[in-house]
Amino acid sequence: MQAPFRVGLGYDIHRLVPGRRCVLAGVEIPSEVGPEGHSDADVALHAVADALLGAAGLPDIGQLFPNTDPSLAGMDSARIVDRAVREARALGWQVGNLDLTLLAERPKIVRHVPAMKARLAQLLGVEVAQVGVKATTSEGLDAVGEGRGIACHAVVLLFRA
Ligand code: MG
Repeated sequence: MQAPFRVGLGYDIHRLVPGRRCVLAGVEIPSEVGPEGHSDADVALHAVADALLGAAGLPDIGQLFPNTDPSLAGMDSARIVDRAVREARALGWQVGNLDLTLLAERPKIVRHVPAMKARLAQLLGVEVAQVGVKATTSEGLDAVGEGRGIACHAVVLLFRA
């Protein structure tokens, strides 16, 4: 018998480069650097999508949206999350809550957290109170700490509706 709850974990990291748009959790942030990638490189939405897909036992985003597919270049990563939510729902799962942590030395994220939570709640079809967004630095350690990258961890709980 299937358990009535499933938990999923997502992780992503992207290189930060000058002159790229900086879109995090679906919110565009003024920044001199942005995540490099095939799509809009939204590291938070990629981690969220993988958490959803993992919880639902579905293939990961690299399989659903290959970064070798030219038609996906510059794509809004909201499309990825939207598909993950729809596929999880098709299997009878609803989102209980999402929690994520962004790791970055730059740009400064804290003032954008309310907008990120609102956008994530909209994408997942849940209340803002079901979404957690936190940001921290890496204290000058590793690639993130040196400001060369931005990473995100996400956890999602799904339940049987
Ligand atoms: Mg990614």
